[in-house]
Order: sequence, then structure tokens, then C-alpha cells
Amino acid sequence: MFDVTNQPPPLEPYNLFQSDAVLREAVKREGAGWAERELDQLGDKLGRSETIAAGFAANRNLPQLKSFDRFGHRVDEIEFHPAWHEMLAIACGAGLHSSPWAKPGPGAHVARAAGTYLLGQIEAGVYCPLAMTYGAVPTLRHAPKVAAEWLPKICARSYDARFLPIGEKSGALIGMGLTENQGGSDLRTNTTRAEPAGGAFRLFGHKWFLSAPMCDAFLVLAQAPKGLSCFFMPRWTPEGERNALRINRLKDKLGNKSNASSEVEFDGAYAELVGEEGRGIAIMIEMAGYTRLDCCVGSSSLMRQAVAQALHHARHRTAFQKKLIDQPLMTNVLADLALECEAATVLSMRLARAYDESDEAAQAMRRVVTPAGKFWICKRAPVVTLEAMEVIGGSGYIEESIMPRLYREAPVNSIWEGSGNVMCLDVLRAIARTPNFGDVLRAELDGDDARLKAFAKRLIDRLAAPERNDETQARALTRDLVLGLQGALLIKHAPAAVADAFCASRLAGEGGAFGTLPPGIDLRAITERAAATSG
Ligand SMILES: Cc1cc2nc3c(=O)[nH]c(=O)nc-3n(C[C@H](O)[C@H](O)[C@H](O)COP(=O)(O)OP(=O)(O)OC[C@H]3O[C@@H](n4cnc5c(N)ncnc54)[C@H](O)[C@@H]3O)c2cc1C
Repeated sequence: MFDVTNQPPPLEPYNLFQSDAVLREAVKREGAGWAERELDQLGDKLGRSETIAAGFAANRNLPQLKSFDRFGHRVDEIEFHPAWHEMLAIACGAGLHSSPWAKPGPGAHVARAAGTYLLGQIEAGVYCPLAMTYGAVPTLRHAPKVAAEWLPKICARSYDARFLPIGEKSGALIGMGLTENQGGSDLRTNTTRAEPAGGAFRLFGHKWFLSAPMCDAFLVLAQAPKGLSCFFMPRWTPEGERNALRINRLKDKLGNKSNASSEVEFDGAYAELVGEEGRGIAIMIEMAGYTRLDCCVGSSSLMRQAVAQALHHARHRTAFQKKLIDQPLMTNVLADLALECEAATVLSMRLARAYDESDEAAQAMRRVVTPAGKFWICKRAPVVTLEAMEVIGGSGYIEESIMPRLYREAPVNSIWEGSGNVMCLDVLRAIARTPNFGDVLRAELDGDDARLKAFAKRLIDRLAAPERNDETQARALTRDLVLGLQGALLIKHAPAAVADAFCASRLAGEGGAFGTLPPGIDLRAITERAAATSG
């Protein structure tokens, strides 16, 4: 039997919140300092060995569709491993599905964003129903009768996994059904039809993607007599019957394995109108703001876990007579990864604060920076998780490390809730419709660094030019908008080494592969700031 040497200890147990200086600073800065105690408790709980093990178990034991009971009755239920329920219970217990609605106030969205950032590092699949439930609440308020019955259950810090009518449950989760087979991004091509029936509607048609189909109800788009409209579809009818929502099959996905995503058909499913008939897209766009914010936070969270694991490994593993972290080229790679993660995190938390505020500047930030952040932050997650995997070497490619799971999870936030191009086109539209955005951006980009000043000037000139609307350049413009905002935030709030490295590489540099930070940067200061330690 050979001796096992030169292998790192596992990064557990550890407190995900306490060991994350960047997050702790952002939480305080963006107005959620009051939530530190609860985030500390959540960070401790998530970093325990048994919670980390539950995250693995939920992803190894995949959800199963149970179409029929033993007697042949159609049931359309999903069976999950207990670990999935355990993770959702932790999440709902921490209010991550609805806390800003249950207890509104300054910093409420920031506090929740920080909580989901912690959770997503240990199990990202549960994030999906949490994000949809969180996003659904403002939309549900357009249906006062539904809201009166459902919001108390949604706002309860209770996870109730039982498949029962809402009156018998202590908590509720909400999903959404927009995407159809013949067209997803272009929602106007939806064919699902809604027929008025006794004050409510009956829906006939399908959805090609409906994630978390075990949710208690769904917000669904369908063609009503007056046009595309938003509907609330519970899993049980008011008469206490199973609603006619048939789950045809579960998707076999690249990642996001613990979460079930399904193809469904509606065979006269009971539903209630939400908001004005014919205004379905406008109503659902409100929800999309919140779920897209969650994509930014979720991708930042994946990057954080990847970087924490990579740094931990490099601090313990020796190669060529030195700890990996002390090998100069590896220091550059790790510092560059930490930089990307910090930039994503600070922008996500800054954006979350815009959801806590209601003035015009906050509205402008929400409208333009939400799709912009979703584009760029979500695009960075797959490359960051890949590079972090490589830091760990061959063991990083093995399922027992969390790295393959992070890597497989990473693309989903970029695709769903509006894929990259759709986000960038949305940015162009939002800028056109937000006359005060130029002023808001100028104020945000204010920072005492020559590289930022030059970058900001070029960006603002581009935004004022007629070519701004050139769709072929929408990705470049959106990327630069995000880089400018990230640079300004880091100059204002991060240690000098971080800000300097970001400006040198992202605002004035050439970019490309990670590990290409130019000479003269304090790489060790960056890696030491980002490291998470166990114990
Ligand atoms: C894991 C997972 C879970 C999901 N869960 C849900 C769910 O719960 N509910 C739900 O409703 N949907 C869900 N979706 C669907 C998802 O939101 C859609 O797949 C996504 O919005 C893209 O739509 P599409 O697949 O029809 O692609 P398309 O709309 O066909 O787009 C394909 C590509 O073309 C690009 N494109 C589209 N229009 C333009 C344009 N004008 N110019 C340039 N490029 C363009 C897009 O950016 C995209 O890259 C889920 C998807 C995944 C992967």
C-alpha cells in the first residue's frame, strides 16, 4: 500500500461567509450589514461536511419522473433524493426564496443575494426554484386574489415538499413556463391557448422547458382572446383535483443535475389570469429582472467556489519543490481568477442594491445593468471554472472534486432567462429607453485612475454615437459597459493591488487566457485576499 502524500486536506468544514472578505465587505457596503449574523450562520451551515455531502448526493441521485401510480392513475410527480429536500429546507429556512418580500427594507435584496451566493457554491440546482419563486412575487401581485391566498405561503420560511393543495401546505414554490418548442426567445410565437371558462381559463398546449415541475404553481404565458397573457397555474384545481398539467419527460441536461427540468403539456389545465389580458410579456419582464439578477449572483457564486477550491489546492500541493501557489506563473493564474471572481461579485451585489432602491438612478441601473451583467458575468463562469479545474490538475477532472459539477453548471445561467445575444440586444433597447442612463453611468464610472478615465470616456462616446445601435457590436459594447462598472467599483472599494490588476488587464490590457496579468502587479496580495481556509 503506498503512502498518500502531497494531497491537500478537503476544504471542509469552513464558513463560506467568514472566509470571504469580498462578500463580507460588499454586504456591508451595499446596505445589508444588519444581515451579517444570519449570513454567518448560513455560511457555517453550508460549509459543514454533512451539507457538502448532501450537495454531492443531490447531484448523484437524479430526480425521477413518476407518471403513474401503481394502479395506473396519472400522477405526474417528481421523486427526489432526500438530499435535495435537505438543501431546499436550508434555503427556504434562510428565506432565500422570498425574504425581501416577507420583510422588505433597506438591504433586503442584497442580503438575500448574499445568501444565495453562499448556497449556490454548495448546491446550485436548488437555486432554480428559489430564483423563480423570488422573481414571481411582484408578478403575482397583479392577481390580487391569488396573491392573498398564496403570498403568505410563499413568504413563510418553510419548505413543504408534500404534493398537496395549497391550503394544506405550510410553504410554496413557484415555477414558470414560457419557452415552447417552436420558439423560446421570441415569445410572440407561443401557441399555447387559453380559453375563458367560468371566470378562469383552461389552457391547451405545451411548454418545451419547465424547470422545477414539482413547484406548487407556475406562471405561464398563453394566447388568450386578447393576445399573449400571463396565467397562474396551480398544480391542484380549486376543487382539489390534480390540474391537467402532464409531465411528458424530464430533460437529460449537461449540468444542473439535481434539479428537474421537464417538457409538459396542458390538457385544459385550470389557470387564472394575471394582470391585464394581452399584456403577458410586459408582466413577465418584471419577473425576468429578478431572475436575471439571480443569474449574475449565481454565476458569481460558482466562480467563487471554483476559485476557493483552486486556491486551497495550490496552497497545499507541492510541485517542483514549491507550493503551487508560490510558483510565479501559477500565482499569476490564481490572482487573475480571483480578480474575475471579485469583479463579478462586487457588480452583482451593487446591482442587488439597485433592487433595494426606487429612485430613478436605481431604476436605470436595473434596466440596463441587469441584462448587461447577465451577459458578461454568466459568460465568464464557464472559463473561470475550467481554469480553476486545471489548477487542481487531474484530480480536478474527477467527479469526487466539486470541479466537474461547477463546470457543467456554469453555462446554464448564460442560456436560460435570455441567452447572451438576447441580453445584449436588450441592453441596446434599455439604453434607448432610459434617457438618464448616461448621467447614471457617468456617476458610476467616476474613479481616480487614468486607465478608468480613458476607458470611461471611450465608452460614453460610443454610447452617444449613432453606431451604438449596431447589433453586430452589441456584445462588445455590453462587455465594455460591464468592465467599466467593475473597474470603477474595484477602484472605489477593493485593495489597491486588485484595482490595479483589473485596470491593467481588463481596461488597458489585452485580456485572453487567465494568467496573463502584466508585470508589476502585487499578485500575492490578491491571492491572499481570496483564499478560503477550512477549520
Ligand atoms: C436548464 C434549463 C432550464 C430551463 N428552464 C426553463 C423554465 O423553467 N421555463 C422556461 O420558460 N424556459 C426554461 N428554459 C428555456 C430557456 O429560457 C431558453 O432555452 C432560452 O430562453 C433560449 O430560448 P431557445 O432555447 O428557444 O433558443 P432560441 O430562442 O432559438 O435562441 C437560440 C440562440 O439564438 C440567439 N438569438 C435569438 N434571437 C436572436 C436575435 N434576434 N439576434 C441574435 N441572436 C439571437 C439566442 O441568444 C440563442 O443563443 C430552460 C433552459 C435550460 C437550458
